[in-house]
Amino acid sequence: MKKEITVKLNDKSKSGIAAGYPLITKDSIEDISALKEEGTLIKLTDKQGRFVAKGYYGNQNKGIGWVLSRSEAEEIDQEFIERRLIEAMRRRRDFFNNPDTTAFRLFNGEGDGFGGLIIDYYDGYFLVSWYSEGVYSFKEQLVAALHNVAEFKGIYEKKRFDTKGQYIEDDDFVAGERGEFPLIVKENGVNFAIYLNDGAMTGIFLDQREVRQAIKEKYAKGKTILNTFSYTGAFSVAAAIGGADKTTSVDLAKRSNAKTIEQFSVNGIDYESQDILVMDVFNYFKYAKRKELKFDVVILDPPSFARSKKYTFSTSKDYTNLMKEAIAITEDRGVIVASTNSASFGMKKFKGFIDRAFTDLGKKYTIVEEFSLPPDFRVDPKFSEGNYLKVLFVKLG
Ligand code: SAH
Repeated sequence: MKKEITVKLNDKSKSGIAAGYPLITKDSIEDISALKEEGTLIKLTDKQGRFVAKGYYGNQNKGIGWVLSRSEAEEIDQEFIERRLIEAMRRRRDFFNNPDTTAFRLFNGEGDGFGGLIIDYYDGYFLVSWYSEGVYSFKEQLVAALHNVAEFKGIYEKKRFDTKGQYIEDDDFVAGERGEFPLIVKENGVNFAIYLNDGAMTGIFLDQREVRQAIKEKYAKGKTILNTFSYTGAFSVAAAIGGADKTTSVDLAKRSNAKTIEQFSVNGIDYESQDILVMDVFNYFKYAKRKELKFDVVILDPPSFARSKKYTFSTSKDYTNLMKEAIAITEDRGVIVASTNSASFGMKKFKGFIDRAFTDLGKKYTIVEEFSLPPDFRVDPKFSEGNYLKVLFVKLG
């Protein structure tokens, strides 16, 4: 049994929580000092002591916990977790039945009714990401629940809250049978090599599935593609399979080279016919301008914040400049795929950054396509901040 304490909501936040807002913030409650041990269940009442909701205490970014239920009678126990899992799996029935896509998000935090808890599915393996120490305290219950209601080969985990001894404990293995890595998963028929036991990232960002598919099906054939901040080159692989003339992948991280070679190779593509460069994107822009290189498609998918030896990049300050650099090396009528995963601003502001770049350069453009999170990354309609992904296909001229 988990410990439960009662905490009073202040008047300002009570109606929001009652109406469905899932995040418990520091300034929504009256007496923060009552919260001591992460993972403690919290009963939230109004100032008069009337029940509003229940949830748990766990420090994560902007919040100190998540609402789990608005029914006083509902116990937060293993059966509760089982019900949420069953519902999440039911919602993704089409994904389970699709042999062309064997990796997807199975449980998306508050979007599936349990903030702080993410489960991704990789061809029979579950990868559980814990976003706070508080949610991690549900581990035993979650694993037992998965054994009861789901079929899997094995379970791995990422403790995203643990900044010190991160990702090294026992290869992140939790239960079932160990996988053999790389595990080859499919996404719309494209192969990806995945590692569940090798640090924070697995080799693919599943939230870009629809963007990769669009590039492969509609934008790649016969084109030259520049993929900046390319990581394992997932966009390049999609483009090459879609018939690109040539792809150029640029990433600062040394290991991106071997990782990108691997992703091409598991798809039977000769990586030597592609360019894979380990360098700073901002230096590459300079190089490309000097050499008067231009591309039909330029993909921009920077991290929200990055610091290299020479440059600091923060999406909300520098996206307009990044866009200008890209415009300078994109062919007339070419396409820039502008992406950001920054949760700190919405689509409208993002469009503003793009517009500013073209206006400053006195150039014309049209937005031809727009993407946000795919359906397996389920968003709680009461928590639109959860829909962090913004991708625009911008055509020059
Ligand atoms: N677009 C990728 C994900 C990008 S993750 C995909 O679809 O899979 C962000 C990447 O940016 C990381 O691999 C990081 O090494 C790289 N990066 C950060 N700053 C950079 C810089 N200044 N130049 C080049 N790459 C950079």
